[in-house]
Amino acid sequence: MIDLRSDTLTTPTRAMRSAMAAAEVGDDVYGEDPTTNALEERVAGLFGHEAALFTPTGSLANVLAIRSLVRVGQEVLCEASAHIARAELGAHGAITGLTMRTWTGQRGQIDQPAIAEMYAPDMGPFLVPTAAVSVENTHNFAGGAVLPLADLQALRSWADEVGVAVHLDGARIWNAHVATGTSFSDYGAVADVIAVCLSKGLGAPVGSLVVGSADAIAEARVWRKRLGGGMRQTGILAAAGLHALDHHLERLSVDHDHAKLLAEACGVDPATVDTNIVVVPRPDAADFVSAAAEAGVRIAAVGPRVVRLVTHLEVSKADADTAAAILTRL
Ligand SMILES: *Cc1c(COP(=O)(O)O)cnc(C)c1O
Repeated sequence: MIDLRSDTLTTPTRAMRSAMAAAEVGDDVYGEDPTTNALEERVAGLFGHEAALFTPTGSLANVLAIRSLVRVGQEVLCEASAHIARAELGAHGAITGLTMRTWTGQRGQIDQPAIAEMYAPDMGPFLVPTAAVSVENTHNFAGGAVLPLADLQALRSWADEVGVAVHLDGARIWNAHVATGTSFSDYGAVADVIAVCLSKGLGAPVGSLVVGSADAIAEARVWRKRLGGGMRQTGILAAAGLHALDHHLERLSVDHDHAKLLAEACGVDPATVDTNIVVVPRPDAADFVSAAAEAGVRIAAVGPRVVRLVTHLEVSKADADTAAAILTRL
């Protein structure tokens, strides 16, 4: 079975398991896990921010990140198919008590005029005050679309002008970096707070981080514990993340090549595939998914008329070729 449902399906490699087994550990709630501290410092440094915090999931990283910018009764603006709006089960409203308004971007892109139009920081005791704008790079439901650096920088300059905060959901910022060559520090400079995942294309079994100012991260640390996400000897997990950054980052370009190949097989223009996700319009999504599974390829329906294919660490060139042949036939 070739499993293209998600890049979260990867399991730790033998070398990653060795790194995990050998990790130096301590109690991370006491701030005494040296491997977790090293990972947090490394990732904060990559993005040019002061601090970072390890979290069990990307959803928690996003909740902590956005919570550092938006208070109860305030709003965050985001794209209509953003992960924070669609795929976190209402966590931001349920936990933080914020509301969201959305713009609809072509392929998940930033629509600066729409954002500026929606922005309402202080309309008196009638309208919800806008506290932050959130963007997602790469954009999951838009098929792994990259947000161009120039658009992110334009958002940043506007945000500085009007005084609003910017959150970056960078669960797959690694893919954006590899696809475009944009440095992590350039991405870091456009956001006040960033969430990144180690458990997607990088292939770690568990782990995400929130990246931001020392103050924001200190507060996120309190909220992580409050929400039950303070873990103890996390060095075992952080070691997987450090190993992934050392060994699984540059190879993401291989996943991107495989995604283009699969796009072609499904009649999608490979030029519209930026990274490792292919979104295929299919009027018969559920039937197509079953037929593919029967033929040996697992893919996912992400809507009644859309299927999604994701390439990752455990999909070899031979697997991609086999899957492409099966999908072409179907
Ligand atoms: C996967 C993902 C997350 C976090 O998901 P978890 O499953 O909670 O780790 C956040 N944002 C995007 C865009 C994602 O794809």
